[in-house]
Amino acid sequence: MNQFDVTVIGSGPGGYVAAIRCAQLGLKTAIIEKYPTMGGTCLNVGCIPSKALLDSSEHFENAKHNFQNHGILINEPTADLARMIARKDEVVDQTTKGIQFLMDKNKVTVFEGVGSFESSTQVKVTKNDGSTEILDSKYIIIATGSKPSSLPFITIDKERIITSTEALKLKEIPKHLVVIGGGVIGLELGSVYKRLGSEVTVVEFMDKIIPTMDGALSKELNKVLRKQGMKFMLSTAVQAVERNGDSVKVTAKDKKGEEVVVEGDYVLVSVGRKPYTDGLSLEKAGVDLDERGRVKTNEHLQTNVSNIYAIGDVVAGAMLAHKASEEGVLVAEQLAGQKPHINYNLIPGVVYTWPEVAAVGKTEEQLKAEGVAIKVGNFPMRALGRSRASGDVDGFIKIIADEKTDEVLGVHMIGARAADMIAAAVTAMEYRASAEDIARMSHAHPTFAEAIKEAALDATGKIAIHM
Ligand SMILES: Cc1cc2nc3c(=O)[nH]c(=O)nc-3n(C[C@H](O)[C@H](O)[C@H](O)COP(=O)(O)OP(=O)(O)OC[C@H]3O[C@@H](n4cnc5c(N)ncnc54)[C@H](O)[C@@H]3O)c2cc1C
Repeated sequence: MNQFDVTVIGSGPGGYVAAIRCAQLGLKTAIIEKYPTMGGTCLNVGCIPSKALLDSSEHFENAKHNFQNHGILINEPTADLARMIARKDEVVDQTTKGIQFLMDKNKVTVFEGVGSFESSTQVKVTKNDGSTEILDSKYIIIATGSKPSSLPFITIDKERIITSTEALKLKEIPKHLVVIGGGVIGLELGSVYKRLGSEVTVVEFMDKIIPTMDGALSKELNKVLRKQGMKFMLSTAVQAVERNGDSVKVTAKDKKGEEVVVEGDYVLVSVGRKPYTDGLSLEKAGVDLDERGRVKTNEHLQTNVSNIYAIGDVVAGAMLAHKASEEGVLVAEQLAGQKPHINYNLIPGVVYTWPEVAAVGKTEEQLKAEGVAIKVGNFPMRALGRSRASGDVDGFIKIIADEKTDEVLGVHMIGARAADMIAAAVTAMEYRASAEDIARMSHAHPTFAEAIKEAALDATGKIAIHM
């Protein structure tokens, strides 16, 4: 009965997409998920709920500060956090039910329970009531994702010292939220509560926020968020986090080695995520991990056991939902005998602050370190008619091209709707466009995307039109 071509362990954007593509390609597919809802971190406690709260809090921010500029006069708005969280839960509920629907539609058999290896071809499902079932499978895809990581000396109590999971369901708006880690998740959730009225202090070990992105983006985002009232303590190493009743004290060392203390009522620990393989009994199948606890794979995402593959946050690479999904499709298509390919350089990264930050390709720092001769074009959003019409004047678009060939090597943007605009840059780079190609394409007026054309024009060495 329980004989499958493919068994997928984990139903996040890696696992569920892999299962759908396997089934579409005619493979008899099972998926195992330990939680009652499908969709993994992304749909339940990640991408979707965080964006729901970012949107709600942005509406609030606009009502409070920006409506007046547009000639809309309303009484002082108040934030109903409970309603916002309830709306977020409804969005999550609809989205996760949508995955269940897709499983049924594609005839993927869903097993609820913890999946663990019995051998390289057998997976045991342990259900909530303790009962077990064995699935025999020709191929197995590990898509068990990741969990928030912490620092060794911090105890997450899930009440006052929290991770992103708890930050998505707080019962009150913090008076002072201390965010440890100036990466994507910390800045997004910090933005939510800043807009709702919290004081927000971000403590970051590195000398800049969003440290893996282009330095110019990091600088501009820091400037804009400071303007919005967020505080930053950079080059500051947290040493201890202590809770005392309803308050929390963060002790750190600044770059001079001097002790600094920040006190708040909540501390969000957002120092990254770690691959999750607990309970899988990988040793029974003989699957190897790398030095960072990730499932080790080759370029085909195949583990050292030839019929077992791994995808998404549990393997090396960017911890992004769309990266996990691309990998799910890649593995499914390989199993069906196709020869797919992923260009990892063209996986975009986005930060959903306002303004949004988005990037694809290489940063100026990376290209310089690689010794590539480059030329850089910039265009400020402020110079666009569209930006002035909406009042979103912060940010810029930066395009880096090869000095000799003019091929676009990186596009880095901060500004309104950058998260959606980055798709144009991905398309251009996928087709190996030159800066001049982009500069010669017609962009609708007035749009924020006109800044892409203008930045490309600047990169070619010609003068942008609206500068
Ligand atoms: C707050 C937050 C915001 C984010 N925002 C974004 C964003 O805007 N865009 C973006 O691209 N990424 C975002 N991410 C990252 C994104 O959520 C992850 O990259 C993505 O979910 C990884 O997908 P995955 O399929 O590899 O794993 P996951 O989504 O983590 O799914 C793994 C699943 O496997 C299940 N599982 C684990 N072990 C077992 C087992 N033994 N048996 C059965 N089931 C098991 C888990 O319960 C889970 O459901 C965000 C993350 C967080 C925390």
